[in-house]
Amino acid sequence: MTTLDETHDPHRRSWVESANAPDTDFPIQNLPIGVFSLDGRSPRCGIAIGDAVLDIGIAHDKGWFTGDAAIAAESAITASLNDLFSLGCSPLRELRRQAASILAHDGPLAKSTRAAREGLLHARDACAMQLPVRVGNYTDFYAGIYHAKAAGALLTPEDPLPKNYKWVPIAYHGRASSVRVGGGTIKHPHGQRPPEDDGRPGFGPSRRLDFELEMGFFIGKGNALGQPIDIAGAGEHIVGFTLLNDWSARDIQRWEMFPLGPFLSKNFSTSISPWIVTADALLPFRTPAMARDAVDPAPLDYLLDADDQRRGGIDVALSVQLQTALMRGKGMPAVEILHSNARHLYWTPAQMVAHHTCGGCDLQPGDLIGTGTISGPEPDQLSSMLELTAAGARPITLPSGERRGFLEDGDEVVFTGKCHRDGFVSIGFGELRGRITA
Ligand code: CA
Repeated sequence: MTTLDETHDPHRRSWVESANAPDTDFPIQNLPIGVFSLDGRSPRCGIAIGDAVLDIGIAHDKGWFTGDAAIAAESAITASLNDLFSLGCSPLRELRRQAASILAHDGPLAKSTRAAREGLLHARDACAMQLPVRVGNYTDFYAGIYHAKAAGALLTPEDPLPKNYKWVPIAYHGRASSVRVGGGTIKHPHGQRPPEDDGRPGFGPSRRLDFELEMGFFIGKGNALGQPIDIAGAGEHIVGFTLLNDWSARDIQRWEMFPLGPFLSKNFSTSISPWIVTADALLPFRTPAMARDAVDPAPLDYLLDADDQRRGGIDVALSVQLQTALMRGKGMPAVEILHSNARHLYWTPAQMVAHHTCGGCDLQPGDLIGTGTISGPEPDQLSSMLELTAAGARPITLPSGERRGFLEDGDEVVFTGKCHRDGFVSIGFGELRGRITA
């Protein structure tokens, strides 16, 4: 893992005034990368700064990037970030560093003429965000131990936390084709529901539609088939992080998942937030790997690295808000129903990468890895409706007077994530929104 540099300097301000607002997710210390389209033109890569988007292609055309950053910018003049990610972390790091310099209040553009800045920035509101990466493969881990315990107690009470849990970073191979960027609608899935009185399964819309609060991260440089990624170097394969919603149909899941795991209950849709916060921007917010109980086993050697144990976790405060159609109609804002923190992950992202590849599986640039649902130890930190309402037995009551055990058509779920640390400027992930439709 690299070290802090001038891009994390809390005193640095931008000539883009909105980036200096204390509550912005996108100060000059963040500079997440994404893909946008504007005015019907083809999608291209940009960097979020305050309420604006820096157009990487325009900045490159004007000659603002040099060296590795120019190579990175050249590879970002496409409709996806795969080529840029394939270069690994270093060119992206240099692109972010030079972008910060361009956007700094004392940088070369601060006093430049309007002509020099022409076309460089777009209003973020006017940009339609696209899926930033062609996701070749998507894997979803199960690294939130409080989720594993709570969901396990409901789904498999006889064995809530699998015996392998503290040894193996558990995951399943997800479906890449149905990964979408947030902001759209989620079509209510149909499928087989568990048998009722007549012993036959029902078929139709899921009656237990749910979200899962997760983080996702993207692979930069991959590895060759048969060549595992060592835990010590695994961090350099992770280019950036997003918020991830692993939409889940619990009734379909309960009926189908034994013995081979979830299938249709999770493959109908996965949403990610549009802005990828780079691993470098997150450096000040790294935290020790989750402390293990004294009785827990130490990770096996291939999952154990001193630096990863010291700062391989991530401290991201996460929040989930819900707004029903009725609330929207009455002009009532979305209400927070739970909050959590990514520090509650039992396994670090580097451990997930090392484990994923230990048998020789090759990861490729743009592969998406989900962490698993990130619940915390407290009752208001349970990060799915399944856990929050005890599988619907204890519905939550909303300000509209409505009750929810699971999601219903018209419900909109909003995830946010924010990093805070004394002595540093807070950065955020923006919003991840999704609305259920019939
Ligand atoms: Ca999941």
